[in-house]
Amino acid sequence: MAEKSFKYVILGGGVAAGYAAREFAKQGVQPGELAIISKEAVAPYERPALSKAYLFPEGAARLPGFHVCVGSGGERLLPTWYEEKGIQLILSTEIVKADLPAKTLVSAAGETFKYQILIIATGSTVIRLTDFGVQGADSKNIFYLREIDDADKLVEAIKAKKNGKAVIVGGGYIGLELGAIMNINNFDVSMVFPEPWCMPRLFTSDIAAFYEDYYTNKGIKIIKGTVAVGFTADSNGEVKEVKLKDGRVLEADIVVVGVGGRPLTTLFKGQIEEEQGGIKTDAFFKTSVPDVYAVGDVATFPLKLYNELRRVEHVDHARKSAEQAVKAIKASEEGKSVDEYDYLPYFYSRSFDLAWQFYGDNVGDTVIFGDNNPKSPKAKFGSYWIKEGKVIGAFLEGGSAEENQAIAKVAKLQPSVQSLDALKSEGLSFACKI
Ligand code: FAD
Repeated sequence: MAEKSFKYVILGGGVAAGYAAREFAKQGVQPGELAIISKEAVAPYERPALSKAYLFPEGAARLPGFHVCVGSGGERLLPTWYEEKGIQLILSTEIVKADLPAKTLVSAAGETFKYQILIIATGSTVIRLTDFGVQGADSKNIFYLREIDDADKLVEAIKAKKNGKAVIVGGGYIGLELGAIMNINNFDVSMVFPEPWCMPRLFTSDIAAFYEDYYTNKGIKIIKGTVAVGFTADSNGEVKEVKLKDGRVLEADIVVVGVGGRPLTTLFKGQIEEEQGGIKTDAFFKTSVPDVYAVGDVATFPLKLYNELRRVEHVDHARKSAEQAVKAIKASEEGKSVDEYDYLPYFYSRSFDLAWQFYGDNVGDTVIFGDNNPKSPKAKFGSYWIKEGKVIGAFLEGGSAEENQAIAKVAKLQPSVQSLDALKSEGLSFACKI
């Protein structure tokens, strides 16, 4: 089979790939120099839409509406944009072998791609219950959500199982967003997770209590402290019941599992340095292999603000790391350099008419402030994280754009605080005056 050769190849066609392509176009790329190779069948899009507007019963988001870079308020890169720029979109093409010393990638169909510079942007894959041998986990109508194909299958099932029962396995952001979406689609929803409260990796018990009460008021049943240990199916192989470790059994027409992800590094095992399960990079997203960069979910990079290595699975970092890598590549070609990546962790989620944002680090003492009554018509509350007398993290539900900017500024500048009680009573105004 013919071999194709490019100056730059981006492996993966997700969020980071799209933003990298835009940065290449900004910096100047000649037609034919750049290719994006993706196993998905569509041009890069804003992945967070899949667990939100894509699943709305009415007015659902559909491509081409949410191709990158609309998520950051930028120009929407339609497939024609790539054509105009001479950027090759090589879609529905899974790379199954990477030979980094030979600078070669091989697809499942046996095509060979050569590159001078490679950007690895393979993202993450979902952790599946079948990976742990959970009984019946391969039944029909048990869904995971990572790519648009997964979302399309879920949309079909929502139509087929109208007004049915849904069980959400997992209490992270995917679980919370899917719990809400299934409720909005008129399903009778139960959520199951093992931890004492939802989103335990970020939320304090106070923050979680608001969302759990809000969801309960919507009629969602929240079952904590236990896990799904098996599924039973009907004679068509379709899931019917979820068996819990504590002996309870839940009826289910649809199960959505959101129990975490895993960075897609397997292609490069033994060829590249890894750290914290991701591909280790420097502050320019250069890996241990010359001419190979890694960006987005897959990269473990120096987080300058906290002077430590981190891997971040959030869309904002996918966008910014991609831009940083391309700037660094183009600068080094001209014998120049760019500033080190200086990232402020940022994460958001939306469900029902709720929307929260979080900036910084969630370690240390916490104070909660504002109106966190889930029955309030417009609840607005937040939390600060304080370490060594400084505010290092901030969370806000229901904030305006300016207020969200204010909490971002606090997390970045890390102002000192005299007393936690004073901070609690000052609440949001503490951030707004910084
Ligand atoms: P991805 O966007 O996952 O792209 C990876 C791409 O690589 C995919 O196209 C994949 O098919 C391709 N690929 C992988 N392996 C191969 C291969 N071998 N050959 C060819 N192609 C390959 N973050 C937030 O901050 N806020 C949110 O609200 C939010 N919501 C989310 C909702 C959902 C449903 C999901 C799944 C994620 C959400 N995220 C959210 C996380 C965010 O989307 C990711 O952090 C981001 O997409 C990472 O970008 P990436 O380019 O590194 O990976």
